[in-house]
Amino acid sequence: MKIGNMSNARYILNRCLSIVVPCFNEGDGLDAFFGRLESVLVKLGRYDYEIVCIDDGSRDNTLEVLCQHAARNPRIVVLELSRNFGKEAALTAGIDAARGDAVIPLDADLQHPPELIVEMVRQWESGSDVVLARRKSREMDHLVQQLVTHWFYRLHNRIAECTIPRDVGDFRLMDKRVVEALKRLPERRRFMKGLFAWVGFRQSVVEFAVEPRKAGKSSFNARRLWALALEGITSFSTVPLSVWIYIGFTVATLALIYGCWIIIKTLAFGIDVPGYASLLTAILFLGGIQLMGIGVLGEYIGRIYSESKQRPVYIIRQRYGGGNEDA
Ligand code: UDP
Ligand code: MG
Repeated sequence: MKIGNMSNARYILNRCLSIVVPCFNEGDGLDAFFGRLESVLVKLGRYDYEIVCIDDGSRDNTLEVLCQHAARNPRIVVLELSRNFGKEAALTAGIDAARGDAVIPLDADLQHPPELIVEMVRQWESGSDVVLARRKSREMDHLVQQLVTHWFYRLHNRIAECTIPRDVGDFRLMDKRVVEALKRLPERRRFMKGLFAWVGFRQSVVEFAVEPRKAGKSSFNARRLWALALEGITSFSTVPLSVWIYIGFTVATLALIYGCWIIIKTLAFGIDVPGYASLLTAILFLGGIQLMGIGVLGEYIGRIYSESKQRPVYIIRQRYGGGNEDA
């Protein structure tokens, strides 16, 4: 009942939706993208809307196409970043600039169907603060990617301070309150999926089928996905740091037991021929383990270093459209 009242409040005040679109080399697909998105937003006529597009240092004609659309429709705002900062930073720039009562990040390649926004808004009206879009299947990904993603979620959710829902990306609707909470998180290295999960709020889920990319190509190769996975785990868990205590303890205990065994054996059967192979194996194995430990330390120290520099997450070169054209 309470939720029903709230839904009316959200509906009657005729508020504004902000769609946030990070774009990196998307020039070819943008016309089709705006066509589909705007027809959905027109259908949702009871809401005002703004489309905040971020040109993340594209090397093709993305900025030009975005500006053409901004000139045509005053509800389109374009933020040009000073270089390519990466999707997480572009998304942060867009969310910071969004003024709507609900904010919806959306990929520019039409892999996220804009039609889903209608259902998301309906669930928002009925009281959800966050409406997650969950992909129905991962058939589009190849097998190795599916496996790695599966294990990433399992590991992350086991050791991190908050669980990130499976198969949910950046496509979601967030109430203004959630966006305000997100803006209060000061970290520079932003793993958005984790930050979204960390702020919490009342969530609901809608399902969708991922469509193939309409134009251009994906900019996330295996190396970038690996970096993103590392970022996710090191941002939200200190387990990789503390696990070394236990590894060290186990190895030391085993070494002690083995030492005792050697003493007993020597006392009972006399001196054995020294084992060159076992010695070398033990040294190399332990050396490897220690280097891994140092590597993990390095990963975290690197994060402390980059956070402590307090550099901005992104730099806006210029803002176009949205009624204050200064191009
Ligand atoms: N993107 C971005 N900056 C980047 C890489 C990607 O703004 O450095 C945008 C891209 O234009 C798209 C979205 O992020 O709108 C998702 O990127 P992509 O389709 O390459 O990723 P995938 O769908 O393969 O995960
Ligand atoms: Mg994509």
